[in-house]
Amino acid sequence: MLDDPLKKAVGPRSATALGTLGLHTVGDLLRHYPRRYAEPGTLTDLATLAPGEHATVVAEVRQVTVRPTSTGKGLLQAVVTDGQHTLALTFFGRSTRALGYHEMRLVPGRRGLFTGDVGEYRGQRQFTHPDYTIFGLDVDDENEALDEAGRPIPLYPASASIASWQIAKAVRTVLDPLTPADLPDPLPQDVRERHGLPSWHEALLDVHVPRTEADWQRGRDRLRYEEAFVLQAELARRRALTAAQQATARARTTGGVLEAFDARLPFTLTAGQREVGEQIADELALPTPMQRLLQGEVGSGKTVVALRAMLQVVDAGGQAALLAPTEVLAAQHARSLRALLGDLAEAGYLGGADVGTRVALLTGSQPTAARRASLLDAASGRAGIVVGTHALLSDVVQFADLGLVVVDEQHRFGVEQRDTLRAKAASTPHLLVMTATPIPRTVAMTVFGDLETSVLRELPAGRSGVTTHVVPASNPVWTARTWARVREEVDGGGRAYVVCARIDGDGEATATGEEPDDLSVTEPDPTGRPEPARAPLRAVVEVAAELAGMDVLAGVHVGTLHGRMAPEEKERALDDFAVGRTPVLVSTTVVEVGVDVPQATTMVVLDADRFGVSQLHQLRGRVGRGTAPGLCLLVADVVAGTPAAIRLDTLARTSDGFELAALDLELRREGDVLGAAQSGTSSSLRFLRVTRDGDVIEKARADARALVDRDVSLATWPALRAAIDERLAGEREEFLDRA
Ligand code: ADP
Ligand code: MG
Repeated sequence: MLDDPLKKAVGPRSATALGTLGLHTVGDLLRHYPRRYAEPGTLTDLATLAPGEHATVVAEVRQVTVRPTSTGKGLLQAVVTDGQHTLALTFFGRSTRALGYHEMRLVPGRRGLFTGDVGEYRGQRQFTHPDYTIFGLDVDDENEALDEAGRPIPLYPASASIASWQIAKAVRTVLDPLTPADLPDPLPQDVRERHGLPSWHEALLDVHVPRTEADWQRGRDRLRYEEAFVLQAELARRRALTAAQQATARARTTGGVLEAFDARLPFTLTAGQREVGEQIADELALPTPMQRLLQGEVGSGKTVVALRAMLQVVDAGGQAALLAPTEVLAAQHARSLRALLGDLAEAGYLGGADVGTRVALLTGSQPTAARRASLLDAASGRAGIVVGTHALLSDVVQFADLGLVVVDEQHRFGVEQRDTLRAKAASTPHLLVMTATPIPRTVAMTVFGDLETSVLRELPAGRSGVTTHVVPASNPVWTARTWARVREEVDGGGRAYVVCARIDGDGEATATGEEPDDLSVTEPDPTGRPEPARAPLRAVVEVAAELAGMDVLAGVHVGTLHGRMAPEEKERALDDFAVGRTPVLVSTTVVEVGVDVPQATTMVVLDADRFGVSQLHQLRGRVGRGTAPGLCLLVADVVAGTPAAIRLDTLARTSDGFELAALDLELRREGDVLGAAQSGTSSSLRFLRVTRDGDVIEKARADARALVDRDVSLATWPALRAAIDERLAGEREEFLDRA
């Protein structure tokens, strides 16, 4: 029934036109919901039409003229009358031809209902672009028309080939003969009853043929809930399916690497690190796979938490894989894990500790010899910890006994990639996903709904924090002061990053997309305002040359780092910076995530208005990681009150990642929140807004989990099963997995 082609249901002509909107089956059409509703006009006498009011009149077309305007556009003017008084109708078109549709319908002598806002032009009352219904053409008779005139008018997403009212007509044609039995409801009855929601059949009538505003509101509430429920049911199902898999229990042991590591840790763990650590330790000790998301501000100490989890697994005889989004980060991770472990990472080497393991690094562009050695260490089990990029997913990589997968920065890895790693293990490995981007709860529930969440809220003691200032780019005194500050920091033993939006002068590259490895995103201006003319974006190569020639930086070596450099060049650049050979590093956003140089004290971001909130927050998290206070200077020319200015000012005011994430959400369009797939036409979320429907998502999640607990296969809920398959099929990879 729902799969019936529209050709059969509404005839070939309409079906072809509907096809241009991507609607091919009865089900497609029923799920093509009105975008909004026009208010019904109050039936008014032509005699009493008052300018400014929204009104509907019954009248007869008396005359129609179509002519080109002085600028070559089309103008249609009509006069309608009730026999005594008259009203003008005005339509503008791209050309006179574009008005042919109205000219064909507004034939003198025809009667109809006209709805619009009453305006006045040269003393004559008029409607501009009114909605109208012609008796005998759009509706059979006047009584029917008058009855319908009092109802909200559904306005559908339409196209040049088919108008909203034609879609409305087609919808009625397919909807009218349907009965509840034809429309199996994905929402179980008890759930509906609990929340007072109508059935699917009722909801379709509510939104497509509402008699009142309350009708379509009710219908939308139900459809919104349904969207949340279908999504949560799928997430609950996945979670349950994974939970039903066998994992190897990796309980804590005594006398192992973890104990040795804890004993020599140069700092005490924060309360949060300890608490989350216990939680993870307990879950690793179970024979079911852990599925946990660890959220924590940049610098909150996630790496230590993850390392302790990895060591627990190593002590229990297993291996851990750490997946990083970029080669720079993978190398950085390997380096910092080795640094944290010291001689505990030198098992089998002269001078290694009695207990210990090895950290192997595997990236795509490694020299063959190093790569072969790492592959061997992973396959033999000699390396307890294997760090890498996507290269870890390739077929040639084997593990002896993979027990834990740690994913850094989940948004760059999809579930499928996780599964590939899982497939390399005898039993399902435990999973720990780390993210430094604070995710508002509702988004986490939607996007990471199959993971349990832990949050590290406090930063380790002894951090002096980061002070952030916005520096107007076109003020020479201020910019001079910026470089003088950089000099002061360098003289005091600190280091400074200078981040640019581009690599060099002639590339197209901007803050977005210049690095294949790097997914930095600059969000569009939601106001849609055109960009004011502006100076070209500053580029790494050019800024580095400029700084090197500055008197104020005389004697200071300036390094560069960007995505077009070879991996070993990048490594060297980071090393030079870390040890202080080049205490100033001009770079692109490659330093955005995870790069850890404790002596870095200053972050200068040029063209800061080109970067998103979370990106800037990540960037400034690169400094103030040691005991010296951090300084972040956001250099940009912004106009007060614009989104860019709001972003930068908020960043200067607060370092609360959750507040910033909330702002980010507000400034972005919904589509950007859930990933690109959401902006597609086949989006499964039409009514649900993760930014504002948190309560709906909470309820739907509880309901969905309860239902899945009773029946993981959903065999008793075929309609739900079908809804999941139908609506999530295309989005599984792109949206749910955010690959
Ligand atoms: P994240 O991965 O969350 O950004 P890291 O784990 O890289 O944070 O930690 C940032 C820095 O803080 C590292 O240099 C780390 O050694 C240090 N650190 C971690 N935990 C603590 C702690 N409890 N006390 C002091 N320093 C810590
Ligand atoms: Mg980290």
